[in-house]
Amino acid sequence: MGSTASAHITKLMPKDCSSANENRCYICIDLKSFYASVEAVDRGLDPMTVNLAVADPDRGKTTICLAITPAMKQLGIRNRCRVYEIPDNVQYVKAKPRMRHYMEVSAHIYGIYLRYVCKEDIHVYSIDECFIDITSYLGLYHQTAIEFSNMLRQAVFDDTGICATVGIGTNLFLAKVALDITAKHTKEHIGYVDQKTFVAKVGKHRPITDIWNVGPGIAERLSHYGVFDLCGVAAMDEDVLYREFGSNARYLIDHAHGIEPCTIAQIQAYKPKAQSLCSGQILPSDYTYDEALVVLKEMADALILDLVDRHAVAGSVSISIGYARQPGADSAGYNGSGASAYQGEHGTRPRTHRGNVTRKLPERTHSRSRLLPAFETLFAQTTSHDRPIRRLSIGFGSILPEEFAEDNLFTDVQAENDEQHLQQAILAVRGKFGKNALLHGRSLTEKATARERNCQIGGHRA
Ligand SMILES: [Mg+2]
Repeated sequence: MGSTASAHITKLMPKDCSSANENRCYICIDLKSFYASVEAVDRGLDPMTVNLAVADPDRGKTTICLAITPAMKQLGIRNRCRVYEIPDNVQYVKAKPRMRHYMEVSAHIYGIYLRYVCKEDIHVYSIDECFIDITSYLGLYHQTAIEFSNMLRQAVFDDTGICATVGIGTNLFLAKVALDITAKHTKEHIGYVDQKTFVAKVGKHRPITDIWNVGPGIAERLSHYGVFDLCGVAAMDEDVLYREFGSNARYLIDHAHGIEPCTIAQIQAYKPKAQSLCSGQILPSDYTYDEALVVLKEMADALILDLVDRHAVAGSVSISIGYARQPGADSAGYNGSGASAYQGEHGTRPRTHRGNVTRKLPERTHSRSRLLPAFETLFAQTTSHDRPIRRLSIGFGSILPEEFAEDNLFTDVQAENDEQHLQQAILAVRGKFGKNALLHGRSLTEKATARERNCQIGGHRA
């Protein structure tokens, strides 16, 4: 199938590829093993040669390493492995996560980029990755894309001691795959992919989950068609893809041909019509249905306050439950309903849940007395009573400004106004004295997690 697939791609490319895109040049910069590099440099150690893992020692051996240094990866240890997976004979430095510090270093590095390019040309993608449209700077600095990328890499290294990896491409997608698929495996730490080299460098790459935006769910569905790489996707009948993935098939088809029409200017100009808000956590141990319900209510309370703080109302609620692995799990140690674990560049993401369940609310609201029961009902309707629970996510959808709040015939307007005043008072107290200054009684029960999470950033030690 391989060779016919690539013939198909070459045939399609000139038709779909916009010539304007071919003249642009984007880079995607990644800070190598970012958290681990920060910790190594702060200890006066070389991040490229020292063995160091960032993991919270207080969470025991099953906790995930947030980052390990390249030297440890070279020993065959998986990034984001669990502490117990590091072989006993490997000596390494254990570093406690410091999320606030990493955010500060990340902001500092953004400042370094601003010495060379203006903020309109940067799209910050994550704490350690950003895209830059360098098209207009190459003439200005009289440099090639590779020279320009090396200039930024050097500036980051001189200032912070951290190694940056760069993907260069003629559109945002190609820059990202140049980073993920090619740059990370070269000693120059730079990868370049354009339309002409795309098929050769990326088309046959497996696992397909290494490709940006191809998650394990998509990979599994493609595998039913015997498709395991982008060349395979390009060879598929588009109608079949649309039937399988709906309107999202467009992105997959474009990417299978190395096409991405979106620009940084468009991303920066984008104002979402409706937003969503979500919160999730991995529980510290297996939780029963009732224990998980306590945490769910804590999470719901926090998310409702967030909604009130944003002066917004929600039109739907959603819940996703992840269950603990059970005896008889597959080799990856997980046991979902017919689920499999994919080992990809972006981590192993087993599917051990029933997916996200969403319910539309009768009225758009930010009222706690209406939203909390909506979460409880959805939890009761969708959660198994018999299986231990390890992961909880909740969310609000169809979020709009609070002017769009809706009442029904039975709304007690006075009571809801009082409730809003109370919520605002809680926000004011917490803003002044910290999130743990005011807690619900349930947050003092043994299995509750809010008190500890209030001291964390992104679920990790601040
Ligand atoms: Mg990184």
